[in-house]
Amino acid sequence: MAWTNFHNHCYYDDGKCSPKEHIEQAIRQNVDVLGFSCHAPLPFEASWTLTNEGLIQYFADIEKLKDEFKDKIKVFLGLEIDYIPGINSPNMEKYKQMNLDYSIGSIHHLEQDDKGVYIPVDGPEEMFVAGLKSVYKGNIKRAVETYYNFIEDMINLGGFDILGHLDLIKIRNNNNKYFSEDEKWYRDIISKIIGAIRRSGCIVEVNTGGMARKYTDDTYPSLWILEECFKKGIPITLNSDSHSPENIIFGFEKVAKDLISIGYKEIFVLDENGWKPRALA
Ligand SMILES: [Zn+2]
Ligand SMILES: [Zn+2]
Repeated sequence: MAWTNFHNHCYYDDGKCSPKEHIEQAIRQNVDVLGFSCHAPLPFEASWTLTNEGLIQYFADIEKLKDEFKDKIKVFLGLEIDYIPGINSPNMEKYKQMNLDYSIGSIHHLEQDDKGVYIPVDGPEEMFVAGLKSVYKGNIKRAVETYYNFIEDMINLGGFDILGHLDLIKIRNNNNKYFSEDEKWYRDIISKIIGAIRRSGCIVEVNTGGMARKYTDDTYPSLWILEECFKKGIPITLNSDSHSPENIIFGFEKVAKDLISIGYKEIFVLDENGWKPRALA
């Protein structure tokens, strides 16, 4: 099948290469729909997001490339937008006015430490550990609950199409280093989140970016969570969160097989008329 991928970062944010290089590689790898989702600027300094000036250049570049490659691949303009309570949210009016083709809603931070720094979920592990200690008294359950409370609030507020890396909080949790996904409290949180997703109608991305960057052995979200999503009829799409062109379809073949064995027969793909199912084969 031809692949699609709506989660790509390029050199306008923390990706390595130009969007054109992504597009050229995507065409070589039989991708026929490609969406760019650079990190939206935040109200504080962050090295990994677009700047306000970069945002304008990014929009112009993608619009130009859409046209340049229109006979070979469909290109869409999106943003990955952070939800940070009281600071930033995908449902803010400014995003509606940007006329994006789509957006991804994501959480990359927990609360602020006593110096006012937001604890990064997927930043350097020492920073996460320091924040876990100072803000959550070393209680990982409280940190995980905070992460999912933010996810739930973001889903309820809406304003985005795709829920980004649902369980990113497991990024440092290989071999159950911090918690076990089998524990009842964790399973209960996930079933609450799935309920919120179902009510909202958003699409869950199956994200291979943790595998590509060797943080995790499996997708965000874990396969057991995807099984639960399938049981509730939640739509999915397949993304790689690529930060360089060589990862555009990272792990897709294997993950597509896993999704089929769970029971999924289709993924959701954007075209000019909105999100439509495409057979997984
Ligand atoms: Zn992200
Ligand atoms: Zn991303």
